[in-house]
Amino acid sequence: MSAFGSVFMPEMAITWFDGTAWSTPDLVSSDSIQLHPGAHVLHYSSTCFEGLKAFRHDDGTIKIFRIDRNMARFSQSAQLLALPEIDQAVTTKMVTDLVAHFADEVPAPPGSMYIRPTLFGTEPAIGKAAAPSTTACQYVLLSPVGDYFAGGDACLRLLVDDQGMRCAPHNGMIKSGGNYASALRPIMEAKAKYKADQVLFCPGGDVQETGAANFLLIDGDEIITKALDESFLHGVTRDSILTLARDMGMKVSERQLSVDELLERAAKPGCEAALSGTAAVLAPVGTLIYGDKEISVGNGKVGETTVKLRQTLNDIQWGKAEDRHGWLTSI
Ligand SMILES: *Cc1c(COP(=O)(O)O)cnc(C)c1O
Repeated sequence: MSAFGSVFMPEMAITWFDGTAWSTPDLVSSDSIQLHPGAHVLHYSSTCFEGLKAFRHDDGTIKIFRIDRNMARFSQSAQLLALPEIDQAVTTKMVTDLVAHFADEVPAPPGSMYIRPTLFGTEPAIGKAAAPSTTACQYVLLSPVGDYFAGGDACLRLLVDDQGMRCAPHNGMIKSGGNYASALRPIMEAKAKYKADQVLFCPGGDVQETGAANFLLIDGDEIITKALDESFLHGVTRDSILTLARDMGMKVSERQLSVDELLERAAKPGCEAALSGTAAVLAPVGTLIYGDKEISVGNGKVGETTVKLRQTLNDIQWGKAEDRHGWLTSI
């Protein structure tokens, strides 16, 4: 099977901002775009993106999960990066029309169609290191994806890093390319040195998130995760899992979590930890690496609450349980 996100539908939806208005969205080949080598994005990282999914239900219908949330976040990212504003209704229609165009290609569960809206500054102006791009491009790419857990439900190893940070704190809630570039070197070092899968960034001892997923600690019937602030990415999956946890009668604590408290709780039997994000929904964390010590989370295996929460969310996405919160949009 090909790696997640490496297969694309042959066409994408695209629109260009000329400094005044967005062009009428077009359907074009997805194999290339033409950019001036001086384009703002290539020098000053004026770019943001989104990641969401469309699902095939047994009755043949196709549903997109929480598109309103992703569009709101996309619009906020654009504003915070001083990119031209997007019209959420127009981008939503680009997404739904494109998914409808490729409806036959949407994989059945456990697969789905991953949707990647992207926005970036195109102005050819290398003198604008400290000024925004007046022109931009926006496109929507589709990538059919298979079962994220096809290789088994392996538990992740996280390096707990209380020294560095993922990105500049004022950029944390922007889904922007530069933030991933910023996190890459620490992640590569953690892989090489500790065979870690991911780095859990905990600047100043404050447990935040990994390079591309939110972190949840599940201790008995309590779920603990950092309260929203501008320093980290506000995941739609995080919000969905917390909502479902509340529905199940769990106690949801959105608050600061220190590395000390994390390590103390994680070592207890029955404790679980997981990463949340659109790609994997909830991926179990089995080991925390801190200093030169390794701490098993609970028994170091996949926890039953993690599995239950993931299954509950999957069931809604796959049309096997009632969509009580109105999270699905028909195309
Ligand atoms: C995309 C992302 C997440 C998860 O967000 P979802 O909306 O749940 O997919 C978390 N952290 C970072 C840094 C991300 O880029």
